[in-house]
Amino acid sequence: YQGWQLTQRPSGEPTEQCFSWVTGERPSPKQGELLLSTEYLSLDPYMRGRMNDGESYAPPVQLGEVMVGGTVSRVELSTVEGFEVGDWVLSQGGWQNYSLAKPQEVVKLGQTLAHPSYALGILGMPGFTAYMGLTDIGKPKAGDTLVVGAATGPVGATVGQLAKRFGCHVVGVAGGEEKCRYAVEVLGLDHCIDHRAEDFDQQLVKACPQGIDIYFENVGGKVFEAVFPRLNPRARVPVCGAVSYYNHTELPAGPDKTPYILTQLIKKRILLQGFIIFADYADHYANFLSTMTPWVEEGEIHYREQVIEGLEQAPEALNKVLRGESFGKMVIKVS
Ligand code: NDP
Repeated sequence: YQGWQLTQRPSGEPTEQCFSWVTGERPSPKQGELLLSTEYLSLDPYMRGRMNDGESYAPPVQLGEVMVGGTVSRVELSTVEGFEVGDWVLSQGGWQNYSLAKPQEVVKLGQTLAHPSYALGILGMPGFTAYMGLTDIGKPKAGDTLVVGAATGPVGATVGQLAKRFGCHVVGVAGGEEKCRYAVEVLGLDHCIDHRAEDFDQQLVKACPQGIDIYFENVGGKVFEAVFPRLNPRARVPVCGAVSYYNHTELPAGPDKTPYILTQLIKKRILLQGFIIFADYADHYANFLSTMTPWVEEGEIHYREQVIEGLEQAPEALNKVLRGESFGKMVIKVS
């Protein structure tokens, strides 16, 4: 057995001291449990929030507990009818190579899978987030202009490609020239702007001559600040995430912009709506899967992963995701 426990709460970016690597005996399943071996571990921005103490939509990881995380695992031992050794399951196995689960805590993925790790990305939580946030809150119409940040990540890349299918003019925002080129040439977005460029603001204005009807918010910070004044009357803003703040320890300096933002929301009747994917939309998952699976299989929706070998790499790989050093969906190949 090997795993990563949280041993210290980070202030800012998580450091080595925040985690400890534990090894020991492989756990044994009790009657009614499954022993799972982790094949792939998903690394996602929300994990940073779980490392903090305090109120959120999900409880924090306690010190001395294994870090949480979605996994694609295989049944190693089964005491449960209907589960065979070797079955693939989607579970919340966390940052460890073996985990125990009750059958109601896992989703069966079958005996053979072409791309097991896709259940952590395009066909799983991030893809579903993109689909529901865009369709239910963004409500795209042909001719709308949509802007999405983190445009080459698993959520943003899916939002951008789906919005093109709905006939939108799509402008991505991403970090660096390579990601921006990929967003246009492979994902098919109309433009992609580097948020690190000095003239980022001017480029955004130029790419959105009709203003912005939908802003799919993934990042916050300077991207939000550049987009907000350009939102059109009755614009929709699905507030999915704000990754640029996740390592912040205090509010930024400068004047409080709340009065400006609230006044604009009123004047322009802008809809700004947050959502938590499974809490709000669990009932839609089957429908999403049957829509998205053929698009992915037929190559109509492109999907990029960054697979890193070895569970030991998980802490550094999570930091890469938060810093924008990952390119595509970050997964760890565990065994
Ligand atoms: P990504 O893999 O896209 O990783 C985050 C990306 O954010 C980085 O790669 C980086 O991309 C970008 N980023 C980081 N810092 C900054 C910054 N300061 N300014 C601009 N961009 C920055 O993540 P996901 O696709 O998994 O998730 C995207 C968002 O969706 C996150 O905010 C996440 O928390 C949220 N989310 C919300 C859910 C919900 O239920 N509400 C469910 C799932 C995800 P780049 O290099 O291009 O800048």
